[in-house]
Amino acid sequence: MALPRTRLLERNEIADDTMVFSFEKPPGFEYTAGQFADYTLLDPAEIDAEGATRGFSLTSAPYEPHLMAATRLRDTAFKRVLKTMPLGTELALDAPYGSFTLHHNVGRPAVFLTGGIGITPVRSIALQAAHDRTGHKIIVLYSNKRPEEAAFLAELRRLGETEENFTLVPTMTRPETSEHSWDGETGHVDKAMLSRYIDDVAAPIYYLSGPATMVTAMRTVLNDVGVDADDLRTEEFTGY
Ligand SMILES: Cc1cc2nc3c(=O)[nH]c(=O)nc-3n(C[C@H](O)[C@H](O)[C@H](O)COP(=O)(O)OP(=O)(O)OC[C@H]3O[C@@H](n4cnc5c(N)ncnc54)[C@H](O)[C@@H]3O)c2cc1C
Repeated sequence: MALPRTRLLERNEIADDTMVFSFEKPPGFEYTAGQFADYTLLDPAEIDAEGATRGFSLTSAPYEPHLMAATRLRDTAFKRVLKTMPLGTELALDAPYGSFTLHHNVGRPAVFLTGGIGITPVRSIALQAAHDRTGHKIIVLYSNKRPEEAAFLAELRRLGETEENFTLVPTMTRPETSEHSWDGETGHVDKAMLSRYIDDVAAPIYYLSGPATMVTAMRTVLNDVGVDADDLRTEEFTGY
């Protein structure tokens, strides 16, 4: 069966070398916050060995009118095309996939350990939970080198200000390289940082998302504090 088509509606730079792309939501298309989509370029101007398809988390929340993907703009054929194609260009959409979605038991907090572009599914989940008033307590530890690289930072901060159940903890690992001063957390997420924001480490379900090296590092931190592997969900962005 032919895949549904979508169209590029808008693109905006949202952080250093990071763009968000808005796509038309095909009629009847439904997904759960945290899932991802495969996008295929149709008749692209150029292509490389990796081919014309990439998977991106749906960073839009399901209640939002359009689909959104955000990515670091590396110099690959796929991304050069995505960055320059005229608005309105059609792509094939194969979606939704994945089970990186919020657990049902609102009695257990959700703790997200993420960094860099790994924030994409987290934005979707956090916005949808707030919209639906699910009652989940959500804490997001969000690591970047410097604030200029942190996609959706301002938006997630606002969410933290308006939503009692949502806490954003941004941390910068190289704040000295920023043009702005930084008075928040610094350094990688570690045992000490976790204990500052989580009273009982056994209570939450933990979610790790991003490039494999980051997910592995976060998993090590959680192992070290004794988190049960059954309480851990991961979304590895293979390809980085
Ligand atoms: C479930 C899932 C969700 C994902 N969600 C997202 C998302 O929301 N946002 C997102 O950006 N990506 C996401 N990804 C990853 C995405 O699919 C791509 O693999 C990734 O963006 C890299 O694509 P690319 O075109 O830049 O590189 P590719 O052309 O795919 O790169 C091929 C290989 O070249 C190497 N390479 C290329 N450029 C560089 C470079 N500059 N530095 C180091 N190595 C390099 C890498 O080894 C890479 O494996 C997700 C992946 C999965 C599986």
